[in-house]
Amino acid sequence: MKKILLFLPIICLFQACTNKSGTKSTTAMLNDNFNQFKTRFIEDMWKVYPMWATSVGYHKYDSVLVIPDKESRDNELKFAQETEDSLKTFKFDSLDANNKTDYRMIINFIDGVRFNIKEFKAFEWDPSMYNVGDALFYIMDNKKAPLEEKLRHISDRLAKVPAYFEAAKKNIHKPTKEHTELAIDQNSGMLDFFKSVFPDSLKKSKLNSEEVKEFNKNALAAQKAIEGFKNWLLMDIMVHDSAYFRAHDSINPAILSHAKNDSTFFRSFRIGKELYDKKFLMDIDSRYTADEIYQKALDRKAVLHKEMSDLSDKLWSKYLPTVKAPSDTLTKIKMLLDTISANHCGRDEFMQTIENQLPELTSFINTNHIIGLDPTKPLQVRKTPEYMTGIAGASINAPGPYNKDAATYYNVTPLTAYSAEQAESYLREYNHYVLQILNIHEAIPGHYTQLIYANRSPSIIKAIFGNNAMIEGWACYVERMMIEQGYNASPEMQLFYDKWNLRETCNFLLDHNIHCNNWSKDQVMDLLVREGFQQKTEAEGKWKRASLSQVQLACYFTGATEIYELREEMKQKEGSKFNLKKFHEDFLSYGSAPVKEIRSLMIKNK
Ligand code: ZN
Ligand code: ZN
Repeated sequence: MKKILLFLPIICLFQACTNKSGTKSTTAMLNDNFNQFKTRFIEDMWKVYPMWATSVGYHKYDSVLVIPDKESRDNELKFAQETEDSLKTFKFDSLDANNKTDYRMIINFIDGVRFNIKEFKAFEWDPSMYNVGDALFYIMDNKKAPLEEKLRHISDRLAKVPAYFEAAKKNIHKPTKEHTELAIDQNSGMLDFFKSVFPDSLKKSKLNSEEVKEFNKNALAAQKAIEGFKNWLLMDIMVHDSAYFRAHDSINPAILSHAKNDSTFFRSFRIGKELYDKKFLMDIDSRYTADEIYQKALDRKAVLHKEMSDLSDKLWSKYLPTVKAPSDTLTKIKMLLDTISANHCGRDEFMQTIENQLPELTSFINTNHIIGLDPTKPLQVRKTPEYMTGIAGASINAPGPYNKDAATYYNVTPLTAYSAEQAESYLREYNHYVLQILNIHEAIPGHYTQLIYANRSPSIIKAIFGNNAMIEGWACYVERMMIEQGYNASPEMQLFYDKWNLRETCNFLLDHNIHCNNWSKDQVMDLLVREGFQQKTEAEGKWKRASLSQVQLACYFTGATEIYELREEMKQKEGSKFNLKKFHEDFLSYGSAPVKEIRSLMIKNK
């Protein structure tokens, strides 16, 4: 029975609901109760987080804007406590696998709420979290509601915007300069809504003149509040950043001297080791500490450098027969990577090349029994729609939790907007080899395949709280697995996979080092450009991203490492009975749960 449960979790879920005489078993009833609890929990959660609800496509509370004051934070904590109390009434051991992982993920959510309010306190130092753009934009995104209804909801939210930013100003204390600058940019962009989006929509709508008047009144007040907030932040930068003054020499020197006397106004964007360690456990939900993974990432970097050096020796005479190989290993690898990168598709062939590669991937996966693919759900490649451009390259566009029937697309942005030079640089980066790895990661058997499996045992909890380290970890794990299985095997493919993997490994190293070890931009650039063979512009983008986020960049390496280790562990346990295809299908059958939870269920079911 245990074995069947492992391989057919969905079917067994139904079987477990009724025993032979047709009456429900206590276990089935407990799981029914837990399913009902989950539905209530999510309904209640959207009352506490109406803006989040709107952004995932749940539109019941579109007219509500929560003022981010102490009262609202107390309300969040109260909700966390009530949820915890309800959870305690369920016997964890009697829940089925899907509910067990959901249970753990709700606990993780509760821990996160408490951590964010009591310890992390981004509401004090990250002004960019005060932004009503999404709250308004996603109302318009609701395809089921008439325009008039949407505009009424927007008007209701706009009416609250002045109070919203008053509360924000009261919360902010010693912000980071980086998040302050980001907030200024974002809120400047937000002002475009008032210039074109709102007036255009109003004109198209059938709102009566009273409603239009009310809307315009609320919009004007909101616009003033956003501008006021932006200027309030700008003033902080002007007064407290002497570099800003040097760049704007028209500013009163008296203010400059004040700025010099107040060097501690901004706090560092580095969150420090204590908070990093906690946030790592919270967000990644790993069975390892951040320090343990850090050591693994250092080890992996050394392995990759060694392997790349050996491959370079092997390939050198093929590509650079007349050049003497430099004695410095990293320089040698870099020269060879640069040379082989010239093997790429033409800029007009970018989309077609991707489309051609997908059936090749499918046939390799089927022939080599890597994972079952659903032939009724082939991935549709399309040109990235206008409203989403800005996202470069290729990415999976999956429907949200409340829009499950919508199609999943593989969005590819043609390189038409690029200059010849930009296109060449982009194509060298996504050359013949790397483009294949990108398709493995984004499409098959990466994100797209994972999504199909996740939808087979649907869970609203996992759709909303899906563990990022598991999702990204899977996509990174399959890159390595496909190379190991010999997909388009060649030393060149291996070399570029190593470079790609080095990027994921360095993402972890730099995130950890910036926040815990006070790494400077120079140190990060050296890691990425010299040791990671990245372009300077890419490395600079990464530095910026790392200074605005924490732990997010750590999820790729951590997730992939944990999945890879789990596979090796299962191999050990099962010996000659180990079957790669079964392992993959079992692993994905648990949905987007933390790898450590999947691991404990897989090992127990063994
Ligand atoms: Zn070229
Ligand atoms: Zn990804």
